Amino acid sequence: MSTDLLAHPEQQSRGAAATKVPVTVAYGDGIGPEIMEATLAILDAAGAQIAVEPIEIGERVYLAGNSAGIEPSAWDSLRRTKVFLKAPITTPSGSGYKSLNVTVRKTLGLYANVRPCVSYAPYVSTLHPKMDMVIVRENEEDLYAGIEHRQTDEVFQCLKLITRPGCEKIVRYAFEYARSHGRKKVTCMVKDNIMKMTDGLFYQVFEDIGAEYPEIQKERYIIDIGAARIATKPERFDVIVTPNLYGDIISDIAAEMTGSVGLAGSANIGEHVAMFEAIHGSAPDIAGRGVANPSGLLLAAVMMLVHVRQADVAAKIHNAWLRTIEDGIQTADLQGERTTKTVGTASFAQAVIDRLGSKPNVFAAVSYVNPAVVTKREKPLYVRAAPAKKHIVGVDVFLHNTGSTPDELGNALKALGTHALSLQMITNRGVKVFPGGFPETFCTDHWRCRFVSASDKDFISHRDIISILSNVTEAGFDVIKTENLCTFDGERGFALGQGQ
Ligand code: NAD
Repeated sequence: MSTDLLAHPEQQSRGAAATKVPVTVAYGDGIGPEIMEATLAILDAAGAQIAVEPIEIGERVYLAGNSAGIEPSAWDSLRRTKVFLKAPITTPSGSGYKSLNVTVRKTLGLYANVRPCVSYAPYVSTLHPKMDMVIVRENEEDLYAGIEHRQTDEVFQCLKLITRPGCEKIVRYAFEYARSHGRKKVTCMVKDNIMKMTDGLFYQVFEDIGAEYPEIQKERYIIDIGAARIATKPERFDVIVTPNLYGDIISDIAAEMTGSVGLAGSANIGEHVAMFEAIHGSAPDIAGRGVANPSGLLLAAVMMLVHVRQADVAAKIHNAWLRTIEDGIQTADLQGERTTKTVGTASFAQAVIDRLGSKPNVFAAVSYVNPAVVTKREKPLYVRAAPAKKHIVGVDVFLHNTGSTPDELGNALKALGTHALSLQMITNRGVKVFPGGFPETFCTDHWRCRFVSASDKDFISHRDIISILSNVTEAGFDVIKTENLCTFDGERGFALGQGQ
């Protein structure tokens, strides 16, 4: 049975000092209000010392014209309480609405998404009875930066941004989590065989920081085979750390494998604020019927109670919940051979309340420890290195061009070189097509034309780039964008073209 998350220092000292910890609560949309009421009733009956500050977010706020789905006053509450218990919300369909979850995570710097995925066999049917893994997903970066552009008739682009501080924060969080929760192994899942620079950085940081945790076993999986192994042998994983997109996908797969999306809670941890929520959405198909499973939100609230140093109440609730599941009292989504009574949301909450103070008979009872009160981290979450010596050695000029063959384009651009920069190659979708391209290579209308200095020792100025750009545009080419080619302390800071 997994225990819960590492509370950060600010929350630790705040929680200890206050009698009732203020918590910002959003009741959300769809099944949100039903499962939030059930959850708060259980917390109240268990003696949780929290003072609820309700805020409104979600569908009604969106439809009232706020494209972010959250009012300014809600931010005030979140920044004051620093603890957020959130029910799922509905994002209206249509392109004008920004994802509230992404906005909250990024605005408040909630860099770590922590998702325990645990099987409750034989009481909840699952093909994988021995699953007990925690997925630690990077929450702010990667393709989720939302920087997307249409560049040509045929080509759309989404920028994948991975930063060193971002990798350091999430990787250190994963190792600290493993250490403080008695976990034995951290697995890094990346695609660094293809994305050698971005995912390569993530893995490099995993190796560097992992060396500081000798007692924890480390392993690396390429995400595709890693995801396949999660699906077939989940019992071999303990803590998994991974960039945003892969984490988004594998954490849904893993949660579904435990038996129901209604079961899993998650924490979104930042340096200042933490948010706790179920992983599922607002389930409009069953909203208002009083049949939703409140367990995901309840287990998220259990994580929250540990975070605000009410570990004894957290354990009391978690054990009563396990006992309820063992007794076969289950909501419709969990219905199976072991169900003795199918109940609705409120009756399920009452069943948990009736068992407060009981321990499970078959599952191991859970115990939590309040995180230690520390005001300063032993190790900083990230270290900003001294700036490297950066030199420009070339420039990639991206063109929107139709109608020319690679050789025609290459020969025209060659003639536009300057004393400082000359055309080295052209790629199309990353594959070299000039000089010496293959006629079989499919070309679209998006060309990356690499101009480099005559020698690696000759550095290029911004003015040299402007000169090449004026030559190219004056010749009638449609320049979409440029990317400088730089070295950092002499190390190449750009990928070679395929076939280069
Ligand atoms: P969903 O998770 O709401 O529902 C998927 C399926 O699981 C449905 O059949 C639903 O009935 C069932 N289900 C979900 N939670 C359940 C529970 N607690 N008990 C019993 N059954 C449950 O996913 P969706 O239908 O794709 O999305 C619905 C809405 O939720 C969308 O507007 C989406 O944007 C939003 N959403 C919000 C969040 C969030 O706020 N964190 C997360 C995911 C989706």
